[in-house]
Amino acid sequence: MEFTCRSSQDNSYKIILEWNAVDRILEILQQELLIDSFYIISDSTVFRHQGRRLQSALGSRSHPFLVPPGETSKSLRQWHKIQDFLVRSGADRRSVLLAFGGGVVGDLTGFAASTYMRGLRFVQIPTTILSQSDSSIGAKVAVNHPKAKNLIGSFYQPRLVITDPSLLQSLPRREFSAGLGEAIKYGVIADPSILDLLDQHMERILAGDQELLTDLISRCIQIKIRVVEQDERETGLRKILNFGHTIGHALEQATGFRRLRHGEAVGWGMLAAGYLGVKNHLWSESEFEQLQSVIFRSGVLYPLGKLRPESILHALKHDKKKTGKSLNFVLPVRMGEVKIVSDIPQPDVLEAIKFMMKTGTTNMKNRKSKIKNAN
Ligand code: NAD
Repeated sequence: MEFTCRSSQDNSYKIILEWNAVDRILEILQQELLIDSFYIISDSTVFRHQGRRLQSALGSRSHPFLVPPGETSKSLRQWHKIQDFLVRSGADRRSVLLAFGGGVVGDLTGFAASTYMRGLRFVQIPTTILSQSDSSIGAKVAVNHPKAKNLIGSFYQPRLVITDPSLLQSLPRREFSAGLGEAIKYGVIADPSILDLLDQHMERILAGDQELLTDLISRCIQIKIRVVEQDERETGLRKILNFGHTIGHALEQATGFRRLRHGEAVGWGMLAAGYLGVKNHLWSESEFEQLQSVIFRSGVLYPLGKLRPESILHALKHDKKKTGKSLNFVLPVRMGEVKIVSDIPQPDVLEAIKFMMKTGTTNMKNRKSKIKNAN
């Protein structure tokens, strides 16, 4: 399958979605881009699992630069190391960076590409569900600041996205479930059939079924393209992609960007946003129940550890999307439609955070004891 994401400044790019695409990557790169030299940027875990496969498909032309796995690599420190690596390797304006990894590697590499010599071409080769269905498309590239996520970044289009769901076979179960967080989000904001698909086939999707996974990723890609084509620089519509992210980002920040995966934080955040949707009489309790059921069954929630609701609220204040004294939330109007609400009082936000923590934690405990009893 092929899709095109159109950009206003003629920076349109193709997304190739194909099982085993990585094995013919050289052919794809040569066909789609006139490549002179390229540099692989990846993380050490991705490369341990999939590096040999990529390198053998690329032949001897590959020069990998590896960052440590995890969110903490989305930093100015790693950005600087990549610049040093490019200088040392003699990269010039004809060079192309290949971002081979999840959203962390994609965001970091894209930001490094956007700044080196005022802009190198880069190709996204996403290796997680989250990056295949979401972060590799839309041109947002960034690193984190200790005070807030994605604070230092830009909009910079990849030249090509090569999405190969077979790469997900080495993804650990936790990462797999975490990635479903953003897919569930797409169901709520734009396409209820995604939630139905997850509802009906959760076990097979979690087991990595080729057809279902490709279908799920393809539906998410198409929504992401539709949204970012209409609003490239997040001045309006694109904000709907932040469903679950207001509290999600605060959770990531309150836990030092270490404890939770991004998709897990979004999973928790969707519980709070769903609750606020019911409290504000926007969507029905039964719709919220369907969302909760899919969230719980996907295994996207990961224990928050010792965290007080107040410290999550405190972290929210650093959210860059905050305006004035009120907090912005993307709330569900019905399954498949959301709207931005900006006048939610802080006590209501705290109530939603408490609901999220209690319900999510209780569900996780129940599931754990069910599994124990079944064994
Ligand atoms: P990630 O990149 O940290 O990857 C998760 C973990 O899985 C890492 O430990 C990685 O080493 C490992 N991994 C990745 N692919 C693997 C594979 N095929 N086999 C084995 N292990 C593998 O996390 P992520 O969830 O992909 O991305 C999260 C990041 O994406 C966050 O920083 C978030 O802010 C960003 N994001 C960006 C956008 C955007 O539009 N730019 C959108 C959503 C999220």
